[in-house]
Amino acid sequence: MQRRLRSAKLTTVHDDAFVCSSITKKENIDETKGKKRKRPANKSRPERKKARTTSKSIQEDHDVSKDDDVRAEKSNQSNSKFGSSRGMNTDDVMKTEPEVQVDVKSVPMKAETKAGTKPLYVGAHVSIAGGLENAVFNAVSIGANCFALFLCSQRQWKKKPLSEETVEAFRTACEKQGFSSDSILPHGSYLLNLGSPDEETLAKSRDSLIDEMSRCQRLGICLYNFHPGSTCGKISVEESVKRIATGINLAHAETEGVTAVIENMCCQGSTVGGKFEELRDIINMVDDKSRVGVCLDTCHAFAAGNDLRTKEGYERMMSEFDETIGLEFLKAIHLNDSVGDVGCHLDRHENIGKGKIGLQAFKYVMNDPRLRGIPMILETPGNVDDATEIVKLRGLAEF
Ligand SMILES: [Zn+2]
Ligand SMILES: [Zn+2]
Repeated sequence: MQRRLRSAKLTTVHDDAFVCSSITKKENIDETKGKKRKRPANKSRPERKKARTTSKSIQEDHDVSKDDDVRAEKSNQSNSKFGSSRGMNTDDVMKTEPEVQVDVKSVPMKAETKAGTKPLYVGAHVSIAGGLENAVFNAVSIGANCFALFLCSQRQWKKKPLSEETVEAFRTACEKQGFSSDSILPHGSYLLNLGSPDEETLAKSRDSLIDEMSRCQRLGICLYNFHPGSTCGKISVEESVKRIATGINLAHAETEGVTAVIENMCCQGSTVGGKFEELRDIINMVDDKSRVGVCLDTCHAFAAGNDLRTKEGYERMMSEFDETIGLEFLKAIHLNDSVGDVGCHLDRHENIGKGKIGLQAFKYVMNDPRLRGIPMILETPGNVDDATEIVKLRGLAEF
């Protein structure tokens, strides 16, 4: 196989335009912010008492110190909502759980709707602080029935190998908490630029994609979401698109059962994938169409020029998606309001209903039968806690 595992000489000249628009997100790995939280009343399984809460782990386009403050605040808000158990030692969660061999694909979906209809999946990007399996309990603690997570550090190319112990702990946690493999949407490293003009960055990105999709396979996760990449203003969009598709084909050759889920972008700088046509062109060059799809980010779509504030505008976006890409390729949604106005080309997330998109658009999303059964993930700032955001969104659903 053509897999290239080059000795990774870290470079500082990689793909500035791409990194600038995306690297500002960060995973909160500060253990001291972890707080134990009681379960919501309607979830009574004893093992969930072990759920630990960390604050929202993904942030966009804010400075780091502000992020930390906001996350701490969000964590506190969450605790007061569910009852705070601060000061308790929550380390070594899962350490006492018996080891069970679990086929995650056999885990039943949570039935949230009437029999015969696909479930409404609403969740958020959760922290993996203290261990990958903690993401599962963090998701439970905010009332999510789907979730996103980082699989490892987002700031280094070199990653710690995934231990068999972690794999078992994660699979067991998913099985116990009832998360099916298609309700989990890992978010790829922000260092990735599969469309890079730089050969070294390209090689490292391709290796990283293979590595992370292999991790998904071992963890029993069938979706893997990532940003397509950037031309960095040095090559054509067509060339970048070709490189991205090649990267996906290489990863497909090395993995099984994991779908590469490309995220739509907001046409910021030299990023690729802001236009549905670009996503279509990538998919067209992927050999195995059964393992490629799209994650539609509402903020990115709006910032790219899709005005989903009216029913007509929302339907126009969905039919354009269908006509250009095909709704069968829609595998996930990122639920974000937008700081910037329609067509602003800025990747700035806002809390649901607090930005320029507004609540009405999310009502269309929550009531769209085409979006049932696919994970819908919040990546909103820490000003509002995820549990509140989820309750708000679910409240918009009429069926
Ligand atoms: Zn993203
Ligand atoms: Zn974004």
